[in-house]
Amino acid sequence: MKGSAIRELLKLTESPEIISFGGGMPAPEVFPVDAFRAATERVLLKQGKQALQYSATEGYRPLREWIAKKMATYGIESAPENVLITSGSQQALDLLGKVLINPGDLILTEKPTYLGALQAWRAYQAEFTTVPMDQDGLQVNLLEEALTAGPKFMYILPNFHNPGGVTLSLERRRKLIEFSDRYGVPIIEDDPYGELRYEGDHLPPLVVIDSEQCRNRPGRSIEKSSYYDESKPANGNGRAYMRGNVIYLSTFSKTLAPGLRLAWVVAPVEVIERCTVAKQGMDLHTATLNQLIAHEILTGGADGDDFLKGHVRLIRDVYRERRDVMLTAMERHFPPQVKWSYPAGGLFLWVTLPKYLDAAALLTEAVARKVAYVPGSAFHPAGDGHNTLRLNFSFCNPEKINEGISRLGEVFSEAIERHEGMSTEDAFSTLQATI
Ligand code: PMP
Repeated sequence: MKGSAIRELLKLTESPEIISFGGGMPAPEVFPVDAFRAATERVLLKQGKQALQYSATEGYRPLREWIAKKMATYGIESAPENVLITSGSQQALDLLGKVLINPGDLILTEKPTYLGALQAWRAYQAEFTTVPMDQDGLQVNLLEEALTAGPKFMYILPNFHNPGGVTLSLERRRKLIEFSDRYGVPIIEDDPYGELRYEGDHLPPLVVIDSEQCRNRPGRSIEKSSYYDESKPANGNGRAYMRGNVIYLSTFSKTLAPGLRLAWVVAPVEVIERCTVAKQGMDLHTATLNQLIAHEILTGGADGDDFLKGHVRLIRDVYRERRDVMLTAMERHFPPQVKWSYPAGGLFLWVTLPKYLDAAALLTEAVARKVAYVPGSAFHPAGDGHNTLRLNFSFCNPEKINEGISRLGEVFSEAIERHEGMSTEDAFSTLQATI
């Protein structure tokens, strides 16, 4: 395992005088501190001894039930047995790597993809094959060739991609599910941002489309195709029958607080059982106290189940404004050669500089001006994408966003001017060095 130069540089950006568009951090202003304080008190009063005790690896049963019910509102028909509580989605990625990856296995990802998944799976000696994205997400017309290379699974972020900022269209979701079924390659659907939509209509998760398409496909045996065996409803006897090609991940990190370290996997029972064994060896279980507090916030306050709904509405309003401030500032301050994605939700914007610029080299100049971002090569399994970068718009307030984007605009404009002032020969060798 090795660290990365970029991570070392980004550590410098943690100091308060730096305007950081680097991390994927929620706005601390929106953390529901009072709700946490009240819920913690209630938990300690009512269930103090249970809250401080070891607990089941699968997670606190009432929280698993709550999640199964919530998933049903999305159209994901799962039972509590289909739900595993994890210490953040990051742990779920690691668990799935531990369970599914043998050294040398090929994983298919979008290009670019989430850095944390690459980091987790490289430790299991995975290899990566990638398919590029455009403004509608993964280019499914390029998928077939990558699938013929025999990947073990696909890792897909359909909503408000980290780092790409784009959302997979409904038509492409359907095609992707068809390919997954035809080639027998399962999908890990990572959906931390699905609820943070700032405009447009909610699109069904891949896990739902998989259940619909596979259930209706003629010629598939029930055992293989039925995502949910209607003859044995997953209600009373604790047996769950969710089946399908998709493992779904989500988290409370962006809707409640990342410091909770609380997330979940929804998958067929066979997958949940193996991940549970893997989790036992990792941390025995996710913190009992945190699970009980989260459950209490979700169900026990005066607003009951509505707390999260109301809170997510607040987060959406704050982040929508910050996104718009950033987009307007970019229009104003970035030179015309710089392009960026338009995110309908989530926390990130993806920026593409002219091919001859190297975002990692420019980060040093940006940090000297006290502004930071993450260079895009970190999100490319093969280390390419030198002229790209990710900007986060949730963490800084509008004033800082305006100031930081103005400083970045100077860095990029000057770099472009320097390049345009070069002789053709110099420019050609710079281009060769950066592609
Ligand atoms: N997956 C993606 C795509 C993410 O962006 C993140 C958080 N940045 C995670 C997983 C990990 O989230 P958690 O805080 O739940 O571990």
